[in-house]
Parts: sequence; C-alpha cells; structure tokens
Amino acid sequence: MQRQWIEGGECWRCDRAGVPVLWLGPVQTDAGTAPFYACDPCVRRIEARVQEELAAQDTAPAH
Ligand SMILES: [Zn+2]
Repeated sequence: MQRQWIEGGECWRCDRAGVPVLWLGPVQTDAGTAPFYACDPCVRRIEARVQEELAAQDTAPAH
C-alpha cells in the first residue's frame, strides 16, 4: 500500500501545523467519519505501538 505524505498539513495528534502529515486511517465518531493525519514524530510513535501490538498478537495463545 502506497502511503502519501501531504506537505503543509496539520497533525491531529499534537496539533502541529504546516508540517508533512500522513493519513493513518479513518476516525469514527458518533457524528461521522473523518481522516486522521499525523506528523512524522507522531507517526513514529503510533507505528511503535503498532509493532508492540503485532508482537503481542504473535505471542498470544491460540483461542
Ligand atoms: Zn504530531
């Protein structure tokens, strides 16, 4: 999957503006769904959490 960085965006996690941001996925709320964008440092942090989650899934006992 090609991931497209967008120049001059706004990070939805830390509120930095005018920075390159990456679409990470849809955010679902009661009011509707919106795209979630994050800047480079936030993307790195979130991806680290994803790695932890995937590792936890790998080591989880089978149901
Ligand atoms: Zn950020």
